[in-house]
Amino acid sequence: MINANGIRVLEIDLNKQKIKAHNRKDLLAYLGGVGVATKLLDEYIMPEKDALDGDQPIVFAIGPMETIFPVVTKVVAMFRSPLTGELGESYAGLRLGLAMRFTGYDAIVVKGKATKPTYLVITADGVEFKNAEPLWGLTVEETGRILRRRETGSGLRSCIRIGRAGEKLISFAGVNVDTYRHFGRLGLGAVFGSKNLKAMVVKGEEGLAITDKKEYQRVYKEIYQRVVETEVMDKYHGLGTAVNVLPLNAMNGLPTKNLQAGSFAGAEEISGEAFAKHSLVRKLACSGCPIGCIHIAQVRRQFGDHYEYYTTPISYDHELVFALGSFLGIDNRDQLLELIEKTELYGLDSISTGVLLGWLTEAFEKQLVREEMIGCRPAFGNASVYREIIDRLVAMDSDFYRDLARGTWYAAAKYGGCDFAMCLGGHEMAGYHTGHAFIFGQAVGARHSHLDNAGYSIDQKLQGWDPEQVVDKIINEEIERNILNSLVICLFARNVYDRRTVVSALRAIGLDWNEESLGELGKKVFRLKRDLKEKLGYRLENICFPQRYFETKSFTGFVEEEKIKQLMDIYKSRYYTV
Ligand code: SF4
Repeated sequence: MINANGIRVLEIDLNKQKIKAHNRKDLLAYLGGVGVATKLLDEYIMPEKDALDGDQPIVFAIGPMETIFPVVTKVVAMFRSPLTGELGESYAGLRLGLAMRFTGYDAIVVKGKATKPTYLVITADGVEFKNAEPLWGLTVEETGRILRRRETGSGLRSCIRIGRAGEKLISFAGVNVDTYRHFGRLGLGAVFGSKNLKAMVVKGEEGLAITDKKEYQRVYKEIYQRVVETEVMDKYHGLGTAVNVLPLNAMNGLPTKNLQAGSFAGAEEISGEAFAKHSLVRKLACSGCPIGCIHIAQVRRQFGDHYEYYTTPISYDHELVFALGSFLGIDNRDQLLELIEKTELYGLDSISTGVLLGWLTEAFEKQLVREEMIGCRPAFGNASVYREIIDRLVAMDSDFYRDLARGTWYAAAKYGGCDFAMCLGGHEMAGYHTGHAFIFGQAVGARHSHLDNAGYSIDQKLQGWDPEQVVDKIINEEIERNILNSLVICLFARNVYDRRTVVSALRAIGLDWNEESLGELGKKVFRLKRDLKEKLGYRLENICFPQRYFETKSFTGFVEEEKIKQLMDIYKSRYYTV
């Protein structure tokens, strides 16, 4: 039976180059994924120390259904975020979930700081600590190419790595996973850099015994059919999440030019439809997913006379199209792809980078920052100047750029312009301007992410103004997502995996949960995160809402500050009763 003896935790000490394996029966009550990872983070974290102190832990976790049921593909990483100082929680798929699953470990804790640049090779047999000095300074792409050559195990191997942004401790540096996926948000890349950890290669070469194969196959088939033979996940394979661009644009929901508007005149050019027609070359899937929502476009560049070209594959989705497209007034697909490529190679979170550039452009227009500080003149629509600024940001060769490297909210607090620094809880906004539930939801969500509680979706379904209902929906959705994330199910499959389906899948692999106990787990994780955040200094009453949110008409009309206050008051009265 899966997890029969407990949750298997691999503890890696970078400083001592030692590992320990633990079988933790007590962690079975947290199921896996975010439940187990939050508990472990709480045990290992040092609230008194900075997020980039080498002693801080990073926790990776998968769940018991990982890759053995369709679309259960993700890995959660938890850490103290250098961007917000609070809870860092990020998800990625591709091959990492599969590779971890077949190492036999349910969770990996990385602690300590290596004495020199290091990469790890993790297998069921142990961990090798390898010299990454020759890799330090290389791009994400170069690092991946070299590691794939050096480390065998193609197909069962996952390679996660940072670029120069992580090495330079930029607060919103991400970790690249198998080239096309990322632990993008909240600065895990900087935490890797603070540990001198350039990369991890995880190779899963073990088998996995399923006790009741007949029941497993029955449940698997039922879920598989819902995934591939119904409409529930259809859009993700078709145009991918970039399908959202035009509908949001039509309804004032697409943040444009630093949210000075909710619709963009150039939206057609950068829509999912336009990418599919002109730039899309293939689609990929995470291991264990029959959908394949990862859309890859190509940029063609000439390298010689006589019609000599090379092409570069670049993945795109709605968030990238928003952050480096409409938010910056970029309406040219190739220029947008080149901006995405730039953030990819350095290993920057594209969303945070785009939102920072949006603030910087407006701060420059309003003369809060000057050309001699920036080194150029940012302007909406000018992709080449944005590429230059990204280069300067990663070079970090002035105090001004070192300040920008700490994120939009930090820069705005120092130079002015908090009213148009589009962050909530210190975290740069996601690509929606749908109304009250989105803004409120990202602000109060455990990691200040739109994915904590899907306020953007709640906005689109609400009929009339009922603040009690909005708060209930936000809290309940976060609890439900804690359940899905404890199994690390891809959230695109959230409408496939209702509680009844989750219970039957768990029972098919010998784990006895019911709908009620899953609900209790969701609440327990909510409380655990809340208490951990408070240990790290988070206070609900400190949340700020930049004025710009109230000035620009949204998908559901103008957002009213008074209504946001109403939601916050109701939320405060319920926050401690979950
Ligand atoms: S739907 Fe997309 S992100 Fe989700 S598991 Fe499948 S390929 Fe990965």
